Amino acid sequence: MNKGRLIVFSAPSGCGKGTMLAEILKNKSFCCSVSATTRSPREGEQDGISYHFLGREDFRRRIDNNEFLEYAEYCGNFYGTLISEVDGRLEKGLNVILEIEVQGAMKIREKRSDAVFVFIAPPSVGELRRRLKKRGTETDDVIEERVSKAAGEIALAKNYDYIIVNDALEDAVDDFFAVIRAERLKTANSGDIIDEVIKNA
Ligand code: ADP
Ligand code: 5GP
Repeated sequence: MNKGRLIVFSAPSGCGKGTMLAEILKNKSFCCSVSATTRSPREGEQDGISYHFLGREDFRRRIDNNEFLEYAEYCGNFYGTLISEVDGRLEKGLNVILEIEVQGAMKIREKRSDAVFVFIAPPSVGELRRRLKKRGTETDDVIEERVSKAAGEIALAKNYDYIIVNDALEDAVDDFFAVIRAERLKTANSGDIIDEVIKNA
């Protein structure tokens, strides 16, 4: 069986990652790694499904035990990808999506040459602010903190392999599947296909 692809999926908060992922995950060959975080759950978020919600001590202990593929501090909280969420699923042939911010993504870039890096951008910073306000899950202060952080994050999009603008949702989701399809067809990922073609004369 072919191994799955490791997909790093980043975007400033409010760009619509969660909304896009809900569509992408309807395709059962994709799954999301559930990250660990020290931030408090938002309304409706469930432990073990949205995140593994950990205390700061527990998070630090897991850093010391080398349980993370990467971790980063973002807006005062720790977020990290547990190795246990990733490698077994790739072996089973699932495409594993890491929904992580840019510092963590760059750490994966150094460690995993097999990963594909996709950045989701908003149509504009103004539209990003409107989406965060409409979502209504953060206070105005936190929204402004996230919006000002977004400009710096968007500048780092050039370090990713692909940039998708989430303007019309359906088009953005189509673009994501087009990226994965093109990746599968890359010469480097095509395995023994040419040998097979020649052999079957
Ligand atoms: P993220 O997961 O990146 O923080 P969300 O998926 O929660 O962002 O989206 C933020 C807000 O923007 C939500 O209210 C969502 O309904 C809205 N949204 C997401 N994608 C679009 C889109 N393509 N067009 C308009 N609104 C969108
Ligand atoms: P939120 O608090 O909105 O759920 O997430 C804040 C940011 O943390 C988002 O940019 C999200 O992608 C990022 N994030 C979530 N999980 C991880 C993780 O495991 N590692 C890193 N580096 N960032 C993460």
